[in-house]
Amino acid sequence: MKTFRLPEKHKEYKNFINGKWVESSSNETFERISPGHGEVVGCYPLSNQRDTEIAILSARNAFKSKEWSHLTGAEREKIIRKTASIIRERAEELALIETLESGKPISQAIDEMEWAAGIWDYSATLARHIAGEANTNVGNDMTVMMQKVPIGVVGMITPWNFPLLIISQKLPIALAAGCTAVIKPSELTPGTTLLLGEILQEAGLPNGVVNILAGYGNPVGQTLAESNDVDMITFTGSTAVGKHIVRASAGNLKKVTLELGGKNPQIIFPDADIDVLIDAVVFGIYFNMGECCNSGSRIIIHEEVVTSFIEKVVTHAKKVKVGDPLDPKVKVGAIINNKQFDKIMEYIASGKAQGATLKLGGNRITSKKGLFIEPTIFIDVKPEMDIACEEIFGPVLSILTFKTNEEAIEIANNTVYGLSAGVWTKDLDTAMIMTRNIDAGTVWVNNWMSGYPEIPFGGMKQSGLGRELGPQSINEFMETKSILIKSNPASGNWTYGS
Ligand code: NAD
Repeated sequence: MKTFRLPEKHKEYKNFINGKWVESSSNETFERISPGHGEVVGCYPLSNQRDTEIAILSARNAFKSKEWSHLTGAEREKIIRKTASIIRERAEELALIETLESGKPISQAIDEMEWAAGIWDYSATLARHIAGEANTNVGNDMTVMMQKVPIGVVGMITPWNFPLLIISQKLPIALAAGCTAVIKPSELTPGTTLLLGEILQEAGLPNGVVNILAGYGNPVGQTLAESNDVDMITFTGSTAVGKHIVRASAGNLKKVTLELGGKNPQIIFPDADIDVLIDAVVFGIYFNMGECCNSGSRIIIHEEVVTSFIEKVVTHAKKVKVGDPLDPKVKVGAIINNKQFDKIMEYIASGKAQGATLKLGGNRITSKKGLFIEPTIFIDVKPEMDIACEEIFGPVLSILTFKTNEEAIEIANNTVYGLSAGVWTKDLDTAMIMTRNIDAGTVWVNNWMSGYPEIPFGGMKQSGLGRELGPQSINEFMETKSILIKSNPASGNWTYGS
């Protein structure tokens, strides 16, 4: 693999509004410091309420003009597919930006660009499959068409952990539906989302269809959520901010879809082959430094096999390479910022204080310049401890035990979240009992974190509202309009009838 270096000078960005590259109206900017190196790596416009309103107006005018929604599906497909191919061409450049801004390992960031491009490809196909339905079963002279029409202007608010990947779970599908958009990426990782404006322009997207602003949750995200000119918000981020967005969106009752947090269990039965599953456990918790909504942060294992499991998971976790995210061999990079770093360390302290046993790690890696935490494992964890039921969003694994199926289900469901879960067993009955009873939008059996653009993803309980990906995802961005056509015109006899 190519060698990646910290650039000598940071990158300067502008907002992308109505097809033009602009500063914020106040001319103010903000910077991002690479969590893996402690250097400034990007400078972005500090957008305010006025900038956001201008971006919303641009998206509204583009939607009204119908320049995008009135293209044929095949014409929209072409631009969306071209976007996929430019993402692939520029994958290393995009990946470097994400590694510098987020601290994630470069080899992982490059893989994410391919995942993102794959979703653009899939969405391009969806653009050609919007057909609506017809019903001729409600009377001989009545034909009903259920037309699918784009919902309008969509506000998209995204987090920092998978910047281009997460916007790619929203934007291409909304574009396939014929919507226009205003996007607010996380203030910690805006680079690749802003660059997406350049890519879309090159792919031939008309001006104003997509508008992208850098800035903070309040005012930019807040203005999007409150605006009467935004028809829908699609949000990925924390459950706390998701709830706030639902409240802020009430003014015009806009549609809201939410992809939120998780505290995902992997349940291991005695018949499972621990040597086979151990890599999935280590990957599940330490991938993206544990800063992953799908992090497999809770192991719920049958007490008969816990001792040998602990020995193997510790041995395996010790082998994970932690360090400079620009090193292609590194698997665990830096924690996103000081606030998140402190939060993780507080959870490690609370695990110890509440009586769990620290079996591995638990410390800052002081030999490195950035924000690094050792892969950490707690054993003797009880379901009521904070580290067992709250989202830590860091490289901290909690191991709990169970005796019966019922107990495993109860522990698995003992959180406010319901995003994803895993079951490891060779027994089909056990697998079926578990998949039916665990509250989660996705349940993996004998694997962890597989995903495809074709397969819906989203959360139950406080992990979300709605689903992304899959063939139905386009319906999230569309309204159904019922047209009832009578072939034998008659207005009835209501006025004079008895
Ligand atoms: P966050 O909720 O702090 O921020 C997410 C976005 O919301 C950012 O762009 C932020 O600027 C914006 N925001 C903040 N305050 C706002 C406000 N008042 N109004 C509107 N927007 C506002 O989340 P984060 O720390 O960036 O990301 C981590 C969280 O995201 C974790 O909880 C994780 O589980 C979740 N996540 C979920 C999924 C999923 O698919 N379910 C995927 C990735 C991350």
